[in-house]
Amino acid sequence: MNTRLAGLLAASTALIAGAALAQAPAAPAAPRAPPPPMEIQKVRPNLYFIVGGGGNSELLVTSDGALLVDTKNMNDKDYGDLMKLIGSVTDKPVKVVVDTHHHADHTGNNEKFIAAGAKVIGQETMPEIFKNYTTRLAPHTPASPTTLYAKTMDVRLGKSQAKLYHFGPGHTGADTVVYFPAQKAIAFGDLLVSSPTVPNYDAGNARGSLLGFDRALGEGLKLKWDVAFPGHGDKPLTRDEVKAYKVKIDQLISRIRDSINAGTPKDKLIASLKTDDLGFKIGGQFWAPPERVDALVEELSRK
Ligand SMILES: [Zn+2]
Repeated sequence: MNTRLAGLLAASTALIAGAALAQAPAAPAAPRAPPPPMEIQKVRPNLYFIVGGGGNSELLVTSDGALLVDTKNMNDKDYGDLMKLIGSVTDKPVKVVVDTHHHADHTGNNEKFIAAGAKVIGQETMPEIFKNYTTRLAPHTPASPTTLYAKTMDVRLGKSQAKLYHFGPGHTGADTVVYFPAQKAIAFGDLLVSSPTVPNYDAGNARGSLLGFDRALGEGLKLKWDVAFPGHGDKPLTRDEVKAYKVKIDQLISRIRDSINAGTPKDKLIASLKTDDLGFKIGGQFWAPPERVDALVEELSRK
């Protein structure tokens, strides 16, 4: 692994870690890796992947303006860098923004896009989750979407189309998967991350669910696409890579069930799980918070 890639991975790991700790009370801040440089990648003739500056974004360029998925960290530099990259591929304004979920590394600049006249679309549970949201990722709670939907929404811009799906609670209780049918591409938000490849279900106030996480990936895999955008990680993934990721999550879930059924007490549950062969380092910030372990035991103990 070259040093640039190592830096990118470390930085995006730190950013996801921040998102994971969004619900935690203020604690001494861990040292953060420097943020990765923001970069735009052309994936289809009118579809771009913008990595860095928080969660990843996707940009669909149409004859009638652009559609942007996720607005990155709340600060002027990341907003400025994002606008510069958007301006390098289109002179049209961003007319529609879609939030994949509420975490501030994905919604940080919502208010700037709203002020510039964009419609911001999110799943209907987002405002409710924002009410009790505290985070170290942003100086204040990001702006809620201006347009809400419940299960699916068809967004048309110019001659292009994006379909929004809420497959139920997963990474959070208000996840949106964005499907681009003509481009055969899909943006999973943080239901899919390639660095680190650990399923991060944000339980508690964020209302995430590990079973739902797995289900949402399965639903997303039923759609026709051959390129998937992760919420963190520096390149798009193939269908086979997403399938393999879901298989590992299935295995993890069955190991958790086995351990619960074997009578492992709650405080020993995470440590009881073998995950090194899956490439999942659980037990850290994504899995250790007690409300997440509680949620896990609660949902995986059910018949
Ligand atoms: Zn997130």
